[in-house]
Amino acid sequence: MIKDKFLVIGSSGQIGTDLCEGLRNIYGVSNVVAADIHPSPNGESGPFEELNILDAENLRKIIIKHSITEVYLLAALLSANAEKNPAAAWHLNMQGLFNVLELAKEKLISKIFWPSSIAVFGPHSPKNNTPQHTVADPLTVYGISKLAGERWCEYYFKTFGVDVRSIRYPGLIGYKSKPGGGTTDYAVHIFNEAITQGKYECFLKEDAILPMMYMPDAIEATIRLMNCDSSKINIRSSYNIAGMSFSPAEIAREIKKHYPDFVCTYKPDFRQEIAKTWPHSIDDSSARLDWGWTPSFNLESMTSDMILHLAEPKVSNI
Ligand code: NAD
Repeated sequence: MIKDKFLVIGSSGQIGTDLCEGLRNIYGVSNVVAADIHPSPNGESGPFEELNILDAENLRKIIIKHSITEVYLLAALLSANAEKNPAAAWHLNMQGLFNVLELAKEKLISKIFWPSSIAVFGPHSPKNNTPQHTVADPLTVYGISKLAGERWCEYYFKTFGVDVRSIRYPGLIGYKSKPGGGTTDYAVHIFNEAITQGKYECFLKEDAILPMMYMPDAIEATIRLMNCDSSKINIRSSYNIAGMSFSPAEIAREIKKHYPDFVCTYKPDFRQEIAKTWPHSIDDSSARLDWGWTPSFNLESMTSDMILHLAEPKVSNI
């Protein structure tokens, strides 16, 4: 019997931390190899390889060494950080993807997960219930790299039969690791600051509504998509998925239910300019229809769960 073995590249980051744990719980610790340019600040809970995704030869060696069948490519420069170094962001986000797609084209691996983002949308995309297929005119280098990556994924599927699957994640909120320099990071920082300081200064405007998702839902969506029968996957660019939508003022109000003295102030910076080009809410009907996607958490249940974990010192690491 052929056994799947998984490689998570960018394993020390916000999603990688949770995804490695989720995959290891299902497939066993030794079948999930974590790889990153930096070791995890949380320590490693299973096999780990130091890897720069731009080093295609080392990537090949690691895949052969561990007999990897599926690659989850998470290493990237995120929206806010990418604006500070556009050339490096473009190089990492595109060349990293090519390095993995090429190994699948050679049939060295059989399946790839690569995340896209709501950042593919731009000022002329419909803001509410943004459709799967619509105008996508991103203004950030990050969004441009994600949109180009989506086109390449579909191209490698159609031209070379590469089984690559993708989700346009909204802003992700989790308690196990720090966020990596995105426009929606405030929705993680706000919890930590509310619990430790009782106040938070937000870098977005109070009414900046954005699509968001709690990390357990994002991990569930990722694993569900990867386990879905290939014939059911009708979109090989990237699927819209939705969890919840809220503004900084709305999440602050929800946190105040737990910490009545909590005060949130607003000092928008360059990230507000990015946020204002992104959708308010997402139409995820294709994901629901094709592979049964449905989120479990809304703003209220996510807030309670975040506070439950972060207010408990043994679990928190932020
Ligand atoms: P992150 O910044 O927290 O983690 C990225 C990881 O990649 C880091 O551990 C970093 O050390 C590693 N890395 C960076 N350069 C590398 C290299 N050259 N070689 C190997 N590893 C390298 O990011 P994240 O939030 O976990 O995001 C993962 C993926 O999901 C990215 O593609 C991102 O664009 C996408 N995404 C994230 C969100 C979100 O809200 N977190 C939303 C939409 C899409």
